[in-house]
Amino acid sequence: SDGIKQDLGTDRAIPEEYYSFDKLPEYQKLQEDLKQVASLGNGNPFFVSQERVVNDTTVVDGRELINFATYNYIGMCGDRKVDQSAQNAIARYGTSASASRLIAGEKPLHRELEQAIANFIGAEDSIVMVGGHATNVTTIGHLFGKDDLVLYDALSHNSILQGCFTSGASLVAFPHNDFNTLAEILRDRRPRYQKVLIVIEGVYSTDGDIADLPAFVALKKKYKTFLMVDEAHSMGTIGDTGRGISEYFGVNPSDVDIWMGTLSKSFASCGGYIAGSKALIEYLKYTAPGFVFSVGMSPPNAGATLAAIEVLKAEPQRAVQLQNNAKLFLSLAKEKGLNTGMSKDSPVIPIIVGNSLKSIQLSQNMFKRGINVPFMIYPSVPQNGARLRFFVTCNHTEEQIRLTVDILAEELTKLNFNG
Ligand code: PMP
Repeated sequence: SDGIKQDLGTDRAIPEEYYSFDKLPEYQKLQEDLKQVASLGNGNPFFVSQERVVNDTTVVDGRELINFATYNYIGMCGDRKVDQSAQNAIARYGTSASASRLIAGEKPLHRELEQAIANFIGAEDSIVMVGGHATNVTTIGHLFGKDDLVLYDALSHNSILQGCFTSGASLVAFPHNDFNTLAEILRDRRPRYQKVLIVIEGVYSTDGDIADLPAFVALKKKYKTFLMVDEAHSMGTIGDTGRGISEYFGVNPSDVDIWMGTLSKSFASCGGYIAGSKALIEYLKYTAPGFVFSVGMSPPNAGATLAAIEVLKAEPQRAVQLQNNAKLFLSLAKEKGLNTGMSKDSPVIPIIVGNSLKSIQLSQNMFKRGINVPFMIYPSVPQNGARLRFFVTCNHTEEQIRLTVDILAEELTKLNFNG
């Protein structure tokens, strides 16, 4: 057996952490972090089960709470027409596309949905993929390569970063929303690369502020780059009829090369889209790995989104109500002297606390008082930038919002007083 050991090279001790997950240092660090969170005395705050449709309220352990923890911004999840459309899609096509669309998974519903999205946005065409995160990874990762440069906002979502890493392009993060610094980078570096991509988000999901789209459009035109906007949190939420950041600023949709959005938020489903020129969409449909080598969107998911778009077109007041609710929440929070960071004109309102454990404690104290709001801690936000993040919905009542801000101010004062 010594001979075998030598053949396999196992005479040199290989640390267990290299072949056993429970010995991984990263896993042990996770265990320590979870223990520290549990030491606050309120159990595990992660993976808390929500027992029915989440909207302005949610049910946890049979108890109803006011809810600010979901992406159901305009109440489409749980909407009767949206549910019905998903059910109709199942009745007709079953629950899965059962193949890549390129091969045998295409349903009439897919094209209908893509045309509806393109139409709603004002783009020539669109493509839908099975995950929002995956849409960013495969689109950025596929379209750009080693001779290219990707310039992304420093607060970009993980899916954008993963796309950048996948691409193999040169990468530069520019300071958040700072188009002046971006202009300097472009002046200096544009000539050295083939394609250049600028990536921004419509509404930033940790801070609730809005990208200065017209300034980025001017830069992309001047330096002949592509511009991509991730509308995960701006589609359905900003603009007079919920059509997102182009409507908010009155920017022509064709001034953005790559519109990206998720179907998991305003559109009550699961998946992502890219909208833009016919050429872009056709190219992605035949070549993007995350589309070609992945199953087509499931019929119920496609059906739900299609109905959500129809409902929003018929009921744009949902977006207006959402905007009014967000405005009320923000102004009340500011009146109480709470730190709402950069949030402006969006349904994402952070309350910045600073310390991670304190944020977790505050979230748990709010929960005890009947309000469900998640905390965000490093590495989702910078060290010492820990916060609670409120997602306002169109269905919240004025009473719910006033009560929440009152309780929040009270609990934060208590927590600060007790150290
Ligand atoms: N982009 C942004 C800005 C996001 O916030 C998210 C998810 N919250 C995604 C992409 C990924 O979308 P999904 O959750 O639908 O996969």
